[in-house]
Amino acid sequence: MKILLENLTKKFPERGRKARGEVTAVNNFSFEIPDGKLIGLLGPSGCGKSTALNLICGLETPTSGKIFFGDKDVTHLPPELRGIGMVFQNYALYPHLTVQQNILFPLENLKGKDRLSKEEMMNRALNAAKLVQIDQLMDRRPGELSGGQQQRVAIARALVKTPGVLLLDEPLSNLDARLRLQTREEIRKIQRATQVTTIFVTHDQDEAMSISDLIVVMKEGSVQQIGTPQEVYDNPSNLFVAKFLGTPPVNVFEGEVRDETLHIGEDAVLKAPGVSNQKVWAAIRPEGFLPDENGPFRCRLNRVEVMGRDVSILSAHTGCESSAIRSIISAEQIIDPDAETVCFSLKPGKVLLFRKDNEERIRLGGNPS
Ligand code: ATP
Repeated sequence: MKILLENLTKKFPERGRKARGEVTAVNNFSFEIPDGKLIGLLGPSGCGKSTALNLICGLETPTSGKIFFGDKDVTHLPPELRGIGMVFQNYALYPHLTVQQNILFPLENLKGKDRLSKEEMMNRALNAAKLVQIDQLMDRRPGELSGGQQQRVAIARALVKTPGVLLLDEPLSNLDARLRLQTREEIRKIQRATQVTTIFVTHDQDEAMSISDLIVVMKEGSVQQIGTPQEVYDNPSNLFVAKFLGTPPVNVFEGEVRDETLHIGEDAVLKAPGVSNQKVWAAIRPEGFLPDENGPFRCRLNRVEVMGRDVSILSAHTGCESSAIRSIISAEQIIDPDAETVCFSLKPGKVLLFRKDNEERIRLGGNPS
């Protein structure tokens, strides 16, 4: 099921004594979610992810704008008529019901012509349970399951009505690190097997990058960029997106372009063809640094950390926004950990320039994004 959002906006009245206006939780969203894809809605706390999801499922009514599922305008349809499955952070399983009864629950509530025979309900529940590999646990109650197993029951319950759209709101945040990794792989597998159009809300960029076909990066209610994880990582449209994606994060420097050359402090570090003279933010990915004794970018060496396959170099430069520059190089390159300075040349594709005033991307070749 394709989903289309058209100028979707949600404003809440501000509450409390200092209330002076409105909060725009979702600001003019217009984009299409292709059929069968998994979309990651990504952004920091409070950026409007849950509100966007609640609008799509019908728990909230938009202030303006429209939502289409396929060709059907569902903007004012109640949630139960939208053909969606939802999974929340806290699973919301019924503690007194068994796994099987929890999964059957949405089917037992079907009315009229949608009502299924007992046998069909049991079949559907078993198939959903098999899909998430909990069919051996059908007689247990939620209290007798691990967090990951409970989350899988919640997914089975969301899938049992064969929804056209699956909505997942921070579904992994109650799990420990190992289980998170495992469960996110499982969600991806289930999504591929069912081909159900899925929206996955998270504030964790690793999570969004690893499982999404497309990422929607949000900030303060507005969409910043939409693209495949690789596109958004390689080609962020502004400094916020560049900083939000990537671990370790991008290193940000105050720089200046003079005569089509990027300067950081006194160092002329890289050619910047087509960029006019101006002060800029220069964001350099950790993998963009090449140790080179004749390299133009001279930093004070703080520490070298060997991490198996890679080596992490912690260094400092007066132009850097933070106290430490973190660069990742291959373990085959030799760095003297006792040296006072380390010189780098920079990989052009890993150096991203942004305007100082509005933090929008400056493309090399002179065309602003
Ligand atoms: P988190 O990751 O912390 O859950 P989020 O990105 O999901 O955050 P939302 O819960 O959608 O963010 O909230 C977006 C903004 O709208 C916030 O500023 C929040 O305070 C505000 N907001 C959300 N719900 C309401 C409400 N019912 N009434 C007033 N303001 C609200």
